Amino acid sequence: MILLLRLFQIVFLDDFYKFIKKSEIQSTAQTIEQNINSDDLPTLLDEIGERYDVRVDIADASGNLLYSTAAVPDASSTDFASIFQKTNESGGKMTEILSHQKLPAEGYDERMFDGKNVPPREAGMFETLIYAQTLTLNDGSQILLLLNSRITPVDATVRTLNAQFGYIALILVGCALVLALIISKWVSRPIIKINQSAKKLGQTQYDVHFDDTGYKEIAELADTLNYAAKELSKVENLRRELIANISHDLRTPLTLITGYSEVMRDLPGENSPENIQIIIDEAKRLTTLVNDVMDISKLQAGTQELNEERFNLTESVKVIIDRFGKLVGQDGYVIDFIYEKNAYVSGDEVKIGQVVYNLINNALTYTGKDKKVTVRQTIEDGMVTIAVEDDGEGIPQDQLEYIWDRYYKVDKTHKRAATGTGLGLSIVKGILALHHAEYGVTSEVGKGSIFWFKIKQSQ
Ligand code: ADP
Repeated sequence: MILLLRLFQIVFLDDFYKFIKKSEIQSTAQTIEQNINSDDLPTLLDEIGERYDVRVDIADASGNLLYSTAAVPDASSTDFASIFQKTNESGGKMTEILSHQKLPAEGYDERMFDGKNVPPREAGMFETLIYAQTLTLNDGSQILLLLNSRITPVDATVRTLNAQFGYIALILVGCALVLALIISKWVSRPIIKINQSAKKLGQTQYDVHFDDTGYKEIAELADTLNYAAKELSKVENLRRELIANISHDLRTPLTLITGYSEVMRDLPGENSPENIQIIIDEAKRLTTLVNDVMDISKLQAGTQELNEERFNLTESVKVIIDRFGKLVGQDGYVIDFIYEKNAYVSGDEVKIGQVVYNLINNALTYTGKDKKVTVRQTIEDGMVTIAVEDDGEGIPQDQLEYIWDRYYKVDKTHKRAATGTGLGLSIVKGILALHHAEYGVTSEVGKGSIFWFKIKQSQ
């Protein structure tokens, strides 16, 4: 910037000044040309002459001076006729810069210096910019328009600027240094702080806080890192909870199995089919739990692959309901299936079956006293919806968004829910997401819940 400044202010100043002066004088001529036939012309010429510091002379084709803005018009020394001719020859317009040894100002008089030889204030050459143009009047006659402007020498200005320039450069460099120092501090300080906090985060201190004071980008970065730290701590909590949950869930059936087996070993009378059934049920629960945990970890790792094919969803649901019917029928549970016609969809039959199974299982677990569950199949706009309804206690609105999370149980002290793993809906969500299917739940406390999913019908 300093160099650019120097280039324009000092090196090119003279050329620049002349260039501006030339375009100024040309536009002045244009204004005069536009008003050449106007009655106010003399006033306009005087005004222009004063404002732009130019002398305007108008002469006719034979060299007679018609009008001049000069205080002492010096018609005799200028050969207007030859200028007129020259201008016409060069196309009607002419610009020229003339050099003089000394330029007398208007009304300049040697006697002003009391006859003594007072040298001009600035020695050297003076220049004038002459612009000549021939114009045709309304009556057809031609006239010569002559503009004469003094070019003030810029040498003195350049010298002053040059001297100033040294100081300016010095001040600028000093300011730039100080500014650079301040800016670099300002930029780097928050980064250093964030780096320190990030190191702590690396050492698993999840409660670290990233300072978000600073400029916009740093504030955003700090927010992102704070969010990341929060999520990491959630994952960490989840991991702890997961271990606690799994060990707890594993321990209950294991204790029961060991307990019952020992009783049966020690007391021959206890060796009853009921007790053996308890052991079998508990072993099954263990299997379910292990399978669930495996499913969820596969779903999360993204290694679960879909075995996609076209299948009869209605038939699948029917088979699952039949199977449940045999299991829970004797306890008085009723599962209704309402549908109009067979619906075919494309997807992984086993996995979609798992979804239906989980939803019906939940509905059976949480349904009300009438022990009734309704499965409804509807087809609309090429989409098949399966909704599983129960009239149990429902789920509070504020919990609805969490029930799809792993290990989430609405009422952790709920007796029947204690048999669940808290993984069911999380598996459902994972499978449905793999199928790009919509899913959701509407629930009202005290009235029941409707869990549904929607999948594209396959023709
Ligand atoms: P769980 O094995 O505990 O049933 P899920 O992931 O299947 O785990 O369900 C998560 C939680 O959502 C359950 O603990 C329960 O509180 C709630 N929930 C699921 N289905 C229903 C339902 N049909 N009615 C009421 N609550 C339900």
